[in-house]
Amino acid sequence: MSIILGIESTAHTFGIGIVKNGKILSNIKSSFTTEKGGLIPLEVAKHHRENKERIYFESLEKAGISEEKIDAIAFSQGPGLAPCLLEGIKFAKEISLKLKKPIIPVNHCVAHLEIGQITGARDPVMLYASGANTQVIAYASGKYRVFGETLDIGVGNFIDTFARYAGIGFPGGPAIEKLSLTGKTLIELPYTIKGMDCAFSGILTNLKQKLESGSPRDDSDEPSGEPNYKLSDLAYSMQEVVFAMLVETAERALAHTGKNELLLGGGVACNSRLQEMCKIMCDERGAKFFVPSNDLLTDNGSMIAYLGEILFKNRDFILAKDIDKVDIAPRQRTDDVEIKYK
Ligand code: AMP
Ligand code: MG
Repeated sequence: MSIILGIESTAHTFGIGIVKNGKILSNIKSSFTTEKGGLIPLEVAKHHRENKERIYFESLEKAGISEEKIDAIAFSQGPGLAPCLLEGIKFAKEISLKLKKPIIPVNHCVAHLEIGQITGARDPVMLYASGANTQVIAYASGKYRVFGETLDIGVGNFIDTFARYAGIGFPGGPAIEKLSLTGKTLIELPYTIKGMDCAFSGILTNLKQKLESGSPRDDSDEPSGEPNYKLSDLAYSMQEVVFAMLVETAERALAHTGKNELLLGGGVACNSRLQEMCKIMCDERGAKFFVPSNDLLTDNGSMIAYLGEILFKNRDFILAKDIDKVDIAPRQRTDDVEIKYK
């Protein structure tokens, strides 16, 4: 019997979740957003600082436990933005010292994967499509191996930047998805995939040129006299092309590993069209498809607590007296992490 508190702070979201024996008791978060423009790490860190206490107490209240009941504090060690990670580790250490309970450093990407167990996934290939990360990951010989990944930017950052060019604030993904629903014309865009790796910056440049090549950009039908692309058509085409690339990498990973489960993870996985395309691919090859609920797909504290509990049960933690030895790891890769519990 264990109760683990998990802290997420790698990027836009500060979240605290509490897990007891694999069950999520609470999952409270606050996400940094903008009307216009993107993420500025120091501003996001300030958001985390200003919200952490409130989220901590709300999470305890939702879980219906007092803080003394917590057995250990898990936190996102990396990868992520250093100023944001520092807010998380500082808060984790504060609670660890106050309660005299161990601390558990957790890899954020592995947490996205392990929370998939809640949906019934056992040995999946994960298509991890988030803001900063885009990888196809699966377990093999002691580690989660990266079978394919973006060679430049994460797919979420790519969509957010496209949205920013179109005057949409952060996060752009949900707004672009909404716009895509009214798109009708499929516009040709570059399709950049090599094996199981993808690249997005060329498509971004192409989209930017198309956005700038015609006005109006606001989807009104007024003639502009210029070559004109409707934003809704660009949003629709971007999704069709880029998600097809992602699904192709995932399918190739399924074929090469011989696994028959696909798990979606990361904030971009909230997109209904991406989910639909993955489902079609899985149905066609007789694989099982798993997708957690949206509150577990975007960054959250309960996935950190969930993996924290697995590590805790495996006695993989650091005692409060040794916490000075623990630091953040902004560039930690999924395949840096030894998986000792499998
Ligand atoms: P994460 O870093 O895993 O929390 O994911 C955040 C990213 O998910 C941001 O880049 C968002 O724009 C993106 N995102 C969230 N919802 C959607 C959606 N419905 N469609 C596409 N991208 C989305
Ligand atoms: Mg994430």
